[in-house]
Amino acid sequence: MTATGRMLLISGPSGTGKSTICRRLLEDDRVVFSISATTRQPRPGEVNGVHYHFLSREEFRAKIKEGAFLEYADVYGNLYGTLRAPMDEAIAKGLIYLVEIDVQGALQLLTLGVDGLYIFIAPPDPGTLRERLSGRGTETPEVLERRLQKAEDESRESHRYDHIVVNDDLERALQEVRTLVGLNGSPAS
Ligand code: 5GP
Repeated sequence: MTATGRMLLISGPSGTGKSTICRRLLEDDRVVFSISATTRQPRPGEVNGVHYHFLSREEFRAKIKEGAFLEYADVYGNLYGTLRAPMDEAIAKGLIYLVEIDVQGALQLLTLGVDGLYIFIAPPDPGTLRERLSGRGTETPEVLERRLQKAEDESRESHRYDHIVVNDDLERALQEVRTLVGLNGSPAS
């Protein structure tokens, strides 16, 4: 199967390696990344229009009114949203529009019936997820337990996606995603 313009949504619990998979998918010119809008302040090194579209709350509210967002959510007091127009443009050009999003956002898009391929990246088993999350060394035991519980809750929704890809091995999982979205052929095939 060859790739045609469509949305590719990659989601899953924190610590499953979905960002790494997305980064690798973007090595292919046929894939473009969805840049979210947010009201949070840029962190050092973050560039407007590259990492996020940084908007004021007023600007964000105006865009909500215009219907510019496919979905949006309040995350820890800041607003985040996926813009509709860049996705339509990319798909019209025959590109794969990659949306990396948390499970909450993915379920919103699924519920709205936004067309695309929905992939849930799952950890091989809870033990591995615990190792990966504690390996970051940034979480207190309480935060770690909360994240694991959240991952368990999120995994309960995985049946709603088109595919579940278990990230037991990065190269294997990446290959599986590429095959599912039709990125294995050469650009001309
Ligand atoms: P951060 O501020 O660390 O970049 O992101 C915080 C959270 O916002 C992450 O959980 C991320 O998945 C979520 N987020 C980023 N962009 C979007 C978006 O467009 N929609 C939704 N619903 N969540 C987003």
